[in-house]
Amino acid sequence: MDVFLATESERLRSLGFDPDQALAVTATCRDEILAPLRAGVRSHWHRAFDFSSLSGLPLAGVTGAAAVLDHTPQTGQRTQVVVFALPHIGVLSDGTVGQAMRRGRTTPTAACGSLVAAQRWAGETGSLSMDALSIDPDDPEQSLVRQRLIREVPTLAGADLMVVTRRVRELMLRDIVELVDRVADPEATDVAVVSGVLVHATDGDVVEAAPTWLRIAGAEQTASDGGRLPGQLVVDGEALPVSAPEPEVELQ
Ligand SMILES: [Zn+2]
Repeated sequence: MDVFLATESERLRSLGFDPDQALAVTATCRDEILAPLRAGVRSHWHRAFDFSSLSGLPLAGVTGAAAVLDHTPQTGQRTQVVVFALPHIGVLSDGTVGQAMRRGRTTPTAACGSLVAAQRWAGETGSLSMDALSIDPDDPEQSLVRQRLIREVPTLAGADLMVVTRRVRELMLRDIVELVDRVADPEATDVAVVSGVLVHATDGDVVEAAPTWLRIAGAEQTASDGGRLPGQLVVDGEALPVSAPEPEVELQ
């Protein structure tokens, strides 16, 4: 994970993103085992706006995104935002997926607990129940997670958790790009969204990296990962125009 953050941060700097000019955003699950990731982002990019939620989906929405834009430093001609968006999953030494050992505990517990709970809920209630459309006032954030997932992953209950987690990364990226389009003027603000799946393995945290999404000034500038032009949505290695319909990524 440290190598991932260092490599991605260096690459963003080579594209013109300046830690003194950019505001970083961390979009991760609230889970305390993501604290090292959030601290790592801060070590490269100073203070970071915390977009954390249960699961990591960007539930802070337009209000949160507008706040980010209001907080970006005005030290350069253009403002800059760098987003680190990573859902997470635990894998035990025996290969068990969806569990992690936590400090001070003698038995493993769910990671990501929000996604595991959403799968359990989907199995108990059925994907098309009215519960899928309602917000439980005692559990509002997880209700939004359920709504988002059940719309996008109809087979949620029986799906492989790693597949669901990768799908959540795609949804996070898509939602963040939509928020960027809603609140950030392309003429004024450069944006980079670094994403991947953070895996809590027995020998430490590792990242299954995904291509970075960029919207930056100057069409002559290209990203270093395959020379993709900025202003493109890159999903699983395929570059798509930002204005294209939502990509369909089938569950395996
Ligand atoms: Zn989690």
